[in-house]
Amino acid sequence: MSSAWERLRQRLRGELGEDVFSSWFARMELERIEADMAIVSVPTRFLKSWIETHYVERVKMLVTSELGIEGGFAVEVRMVNREPARPSAGTRTALSSQAPAARAPLSPPPMAAMLSDHLGSPLDRRLALSSFVVGRSNALAFAAADRIAALIGQPSPYNPLYVHAGVGLGKTHLVQAVAQEAIRLGKKVAYFTADKFMYGFVSALKAQTALTFKEQLRGIDLLVIDDAQFIQGRSVQQEFGHTINALIDAGKQVVVAADRMPGELESLDERVRSRLAGGLVVEIGPLDEELRLKILSARLAALSAVHPTFHVSPDVAAYVAHVIVTNGRDLDGAANRLLAHSTLSGAILTIETAEAAIRDLVRLREPRRVKIEDIQKLVAARYNVSRADILSERRTAAVVKPRQIAMYLSKSLTLRSLPEIGRRFGGRDHTTVLHAVRKIEKALTDDRVLTEEVELLKRMLMD
Ligand code: ADP
Ligand code: MG
Repeated sequence: MSSAWERLRQRLRGELGEDVFSSWFARMELERIEADMAIVSVPTRFLKSWIETHYVERVKMLVTSELGIEGGFAVEVRMVNREPARPSAGTRTALSSQAPAARAPLSPPPMAAMLSDHLGSPLDRRLALSSFVVGRSNALAFAAADRIAALIGQPSPYNPLYVHAGVGLGKTHLVQAVAQEAIRLGKKVAYFTADKFMYGFVSALKAQTALTFKEQLRGIDLLVIDDAQFIQGRSVQQEFGHTINALIDAGKQVVVAADRMPGELESLDERVRSRLAGGLVVEIGPLDEELRLKILSARLAALSAVHPTFHVSPDVAAYVAHVIVTNGRDLDGAANRLLAHSTLSGAILTIETAEAAIRDLVRLREPRRVKIEDIQKLVAARYNVSRADILSERRTAAVVKPRQIAMYLSKSLTLRSLPEIGRRFGGRDHTTVLHAVRKIEKALTDDRVLTEEVELLKRMLMD
């Protein structure tokens, strides 16, 4: 089976090209066969949904021809420390039934199909400048966005505008608001999430219409790219670089949002990173309690407008804004819980009932404690050695590297001391651990592949 799997991978690589393959399939693994279905896994939800939306038919065909499996396949997200989530019944049926041929990746929707009043991904009308609540942590980002939206078409002092922040802090809201304001003012706008941009570009390349894709992009007044940290693949990132350079040089506005600073976009070329850093870079910081309360209240008011019997008292709202400290997405989640709770119980919400309604939301968000044992297991699995190898005295390169990475991760993700980590790695001395940590730290400064690998491991351990 494993050689058949390897053949399948090689065929995918051959058919899709190295770039596409390494972006989407390099980390796909075969988990098991179940009820005549191949269960494969990938490390992130993003990869799962990407493969499911764009490559179902192709992978399914290969699963049949190379693995001899007729029942199709399902994609799971690999998780550490937990049974991989079973695909829902819905996904299964969708995947195993015949998807319409139009969804096959070889015949991508023509770009014209995505054209409405703008080019690219859909926009959510609710995400407007007027509904964006301004507070201390996002005032600068908002001011820049507001000003840019009004200036589009004229030379802008803030080009590109680069907004970065952690998840749920309002990046998408803000950049979609700029796009919609520009559309309202009659400007030509392209708004792309990174995956849509990659898909648009890769399928244009395939259909040999890459030139048209570029020309369409050159004709716009504003290009917005959301979640730029997901742009990867050699030719895609080069094209991304060319596109933003050409637009900025032509005096067109570019707005980019990402979850990290430009310098930390590892999958982008150094020149692209510095171009992104060369305009105005603004960060949206964590939402303070006052801002959280305003965002929550706006959301509750919107819900009450649709559900007239739904009412949340100011002290309950204040309580929720006090305990949900993470981000706007969780505030949305909390508002929905309160609505569900009050609709189902019919009772007036008190602080006690509110607490019960959002309890899991609060608990879920407590930072995860990473265990050394989990680190060892995960790293061993990634590098195809056993956990026993990692703890052993063996010094072959195949074992030494994962061992050092595991020690490095133990030092950076847990609060254990060096001697304690040494003990947990088969009774080693703390100087051995220190040596490993230093070695990996040093390697991370110039080895991009390793950096990506370690980032991925960290994310898998902490998600
Ligand atoms: P990100 O793209 O940074 O992950 P989003 O823009 O998707 O975050 O925001 C998550 C949710 O929080 C959305 O519903 C958004 O409308 C809301 N939100 C975040 N910041 C604000 C804000 N300043 N004003 C109003 N809503 C906000
Ligand atoms: Mg977003």
